Amino acid sequence: MFAAIPVTVNAPDHGFCRDCLALQSGETRRCGQCGSPRIARHPELYRLQLAHIDCDAFYAAVEKRDNPALKDKPVIIGGGKRGVVSTACYIARIKGVRSAMPMFKALEACPEAVVIPPDMEKYVRVGREVRAMMQALTPLVEPLSIDEAFLDLSGTERLHGRPPALVLAGFARDVEREIGITVSAGLSYCKFLAKVASDFRKPRGFSVIGEAEAVGFLAEQPVTLIWGVGKAFAATLERDGIRMIGQLQRLDRAELMRRYGSMGDRLYHLSRGQDERVVHPDRDAKSVSAETTFDTDLASPADLVPVLRALSEKVSARLKKSGLAGRTVVLKLKTQDFKLRTRNRQLGDPTRLADRIFQTGLHLLRKETDGTKYRLLGIGVSDLTGSDRADPPDLVDAGARKRALAEGAIDSLREKFGRTAVETGYTFGRGRKTLPPDPPEPDED
Ligand SMILES: [Mg+2]
Repeated sequence: MFAAIPVTVNAPDHGFCRDCLALQSGETRRCGQCGSPRIARHPELYRLQLAHIDCDAFYAAVEKRDNPALKDKPVIIGGGKRGVVSTACYIARIKGVRSAMPMFKALEACPEAVVIPPDMEKYVRVGREVRAMMQALTPLVEPLSIDEAFLDLSGTERLHGRPPALVLAGFARDVEREIGITVSAGLSYCKFLAKVASDFRKPRGFSVIGEAEAVGFLAEQPVTLIWGVGKAFAATLERDGIRMIGQLQRLDRAELMRRYGSMGDRLYHLSRGQDERVVHPDRDAKSVSAETTFDTDLASPADLVPVLRALSEKVSARLKKSGLAGRTVVLKLKTQDFKLRTRNRQLGDPTRLADRIFQTGLHLLRKETDGTKYRLLGIGVSDLTGSDRADPPDLVDAGARKRALAEGAIDSLREKFGRTAVETGYTFGRGRKTLPPDPPEPDED
């Protein structure tokens, strides 16, 4: 059916139907073939290759799939009356329920909601099925969490016999048919805008942001759209009278860097729709890690330990987000002369706690801080398992137990007020010395 109609690349009037994938010529409002109103049309539709895919209200969608009686009911995934909302379905969202909202508040807003405790093992399993379908499209899949990923679809047209836009729409359709949940897709020329696009029209969205419109589109958006501008940093910008990305576009790079350090550089480029980051494929998450390269080589523990702490928190956040835990902590160092040192330590039980990752990494790092200058430090965990068996409270020592409780409290504060709202003693005020870590991962959506 499809193969009979050749795609005319750069023919803006040739949109396609997102339901039956038939090409549409002219400005028809409904698909000539199946009557669907879901027509994708954009001047750069057949040129763009970078995609971001995000499952819609993932945990809630999986529960609704498995229990059709829930289909038209407001569903909240979360833990107990004193817990917080982890995901709310779209019906519950209409009533005002949001991710990270305390459960009692959510139930005030929507007393009739069906509350379901999270079944992480199941979500991990479904997430893997979605991931496998992505990997069938391109080897260049970079997961951001259990239910979202970047895909670089360049060079796949010959393999699929369709340009990336159609591959992407076909993927969304297949996920609905084969897995029974919906996704939203964003298509653009860079990671930043692909992600912005996928968030644009949820659920079942398909949005395109082209190169020609990027600067104009961004000018009208709030600064919080920029990856890495959380609530705390947005408040800093607000104090300087900056609220919209258009205002950033009028400042030059030197001025932005003078004001905001390395973050200024990011603001300069992203506000102009410039994002050179490539898609890093993740080999089915055999490990979760984070690393940073220093501006200047570092040797002393006083310099390295805060970086280790910040990276441990990042790894922990990723683990928590994807419902994973790791049993082996891996420290990675690259010396001034590019020699790689990796050091491992196996734990009694898998962990997903920043503090445990950090303390274990610290133990490994102490043996390596012998005056050697390092250009890179990384920390991660491998031997991944589901998080249900992680960090048994009775097996950790009293101090670690206290720190674990404190970490839970910090996590919930961060969920409420943004990542930079809570800095630990190790990371506070250390931001300038290294390249900025990747921005925090956004809320599950
Ligand atoms: Mg999602």
